[in-house]
Amino acid sequence: MSSAPKFGLRIALWYATLFVAGSIAIVLLTYYLTAMSLEQRDRQILDSKLGEYTAAYARGGIDGLADTVRAEQRTAPERLFVRVVSRRSEALVLSNTDGWNPSTLETAQLRLPDGTLVQVGKSSDARDDLLARFRAVLGIVTLTMVVIALSGGWLATQSAAYPIRRLTQAVRRIIRTGRTDQRVPVAGTPGSNDALDELTTLFNAMLDKIEGLVAAMRGALDNVSHDLRTPLTRLRGTAEMALAAPPDIERYREALADCVEEADRVLVMLNTLMDISEAESGAMQLQREPVRLAEVVDRAVDLYREVAEAKGVSLHVSRPPASAASPASSAASGASRTPPEDVVVDGDRTRLEQVAANLIDNAVKYTPAGGRVDVHVRRDGDRAVLEVRDTGAGITPDEVSRIWDRLFRGDTSRAERGLGLGLSLVKAIVEAHGGTVGVTSEPGRGSTFTVLLPLG
Ligand code: ADP
Repeated sequence: MSSAPKFGLRIALWYATLFVAGSIAIVLLTYYLTAMSLEQRDRQILDSKLGEYTAAYARGGIDGLADTVRAEQRTAPERLFVRVVSRRSEALVLSNTDGWNPSTLETAQLRLPDGTLVQVGKSSDARDDLLARFRAVLGIVTLTMVVIALSGGWLATQSAAYPIRRLTQAVRRIIRTGRTDQRVPVAGTPGSNDALDELTTLFNAMLDKIEGLVAAMRGALDNVSHDLRTPLTRLRGTAEMALAAPPDIERYREALADCVEEADRVLVMLNTLMDISEAESGAMQLQREPVRLAEVVDRAVDLYREVAEAKGVSLHVSRPPASAASPASSAASGASRTPPEDVVVDGDRTRLEQVAANLIDNAVKYTPAGGRVDVHVRRDGDRAVLEVRDTGAGITPDEVSRIWDRLFRGDTSRAERGLGLGLSLVKAIVEAHGGTVGVTSEPGRGSTFTVLLPLG
């Protein structure tokens, strides 16, 4: 049995206990107040009769009183006991006390100035009888309330625990089947439990997220196996062909060189994938130190200068205009005009060089002869900016969101060398440094990649 029903029972018992305790308190208070007010009423009757009788006695003596009592007892519904004791202790009983229970007789008395004592008594039997009936009724009411409280509490907690049970069932189903496409329906009805609805919604959102991650991992694995197959098949083919041909040391040398090249390609791919995963999961060890971004850019540009020249693409590192460095204008235009030498970030030099190199590599690669690549370092508020702008092919809007995916290669880039991992690595490294990277691109006119890093 799951713990949900036990949980429900516990809440039901708590609820019922509180309810019953509250009800009993109210019933007892009601009874007490009723008994008090009935007793008070009887006392008031006695007091007012006593006043009336003493007045009658004062007016007409014992005969006058006797007349009054007799006249009253003919019409009054309640019989009263009346006694007058004279100064000489002669008791004159004016009303019959036969059958009166002295233990339930309540009296009031008054001594007149002449020493005469007037006593009025009233039996509490009627009141006791009324209260006894009232007690019986209250007993039944209390019992009914206990039953209602228990069943009401049970029903209420059952319905409150219902979403929890559904959630539990869903989790159990997912654990049993390993399928994450199950969702827990959100009740969302008016008066339903908002907190549980929210939990259910969050739970479903978590499942969406997990499903997305699993799908992405599966996709990445599919891509990796697909992308590994090509170089490995080529490697195998090269070796096989060399073996099948007549022995020739020169052919073997060539074949082995090809094999080394293919194996390198596979290794680079696997290493890059590992790097991306490490950077994304936060496991990448960054050797942080103060790094001048301009130095990083210079080294990366040096790597690609020859490639660009050979291709006929002009490669520029643009610096802020010379006037900007002069004291007057730098004071006027603030921090954003600081010379690039002073743009320092706290980061891993080698990794940041990888970022710059990958962006410059892409810019040169995807820019045809006659084009231009600009690399720009600047400061923007409390952030360092690295911008790589090209006048190349650009990226179509439907590809723009996918270029950061692992192993994604644009349709038009198939002719170029590449693994489709460069930008994924750039993004992973930049984000591991607490920065962001973005792109704006116009197909046919060029692209601008912008890296923002917190200043060191
Ligand atoms: P690769 O360059 O190895 O294909 P990347 O991850 O570096 O992989 O880039 C992914 C895709 O993004 C490329 O295949 C290309 O279609 C597109 N891309 C990247 N940089 C540029 C650029 N500067 N100009 C045009 N397209 C680009």
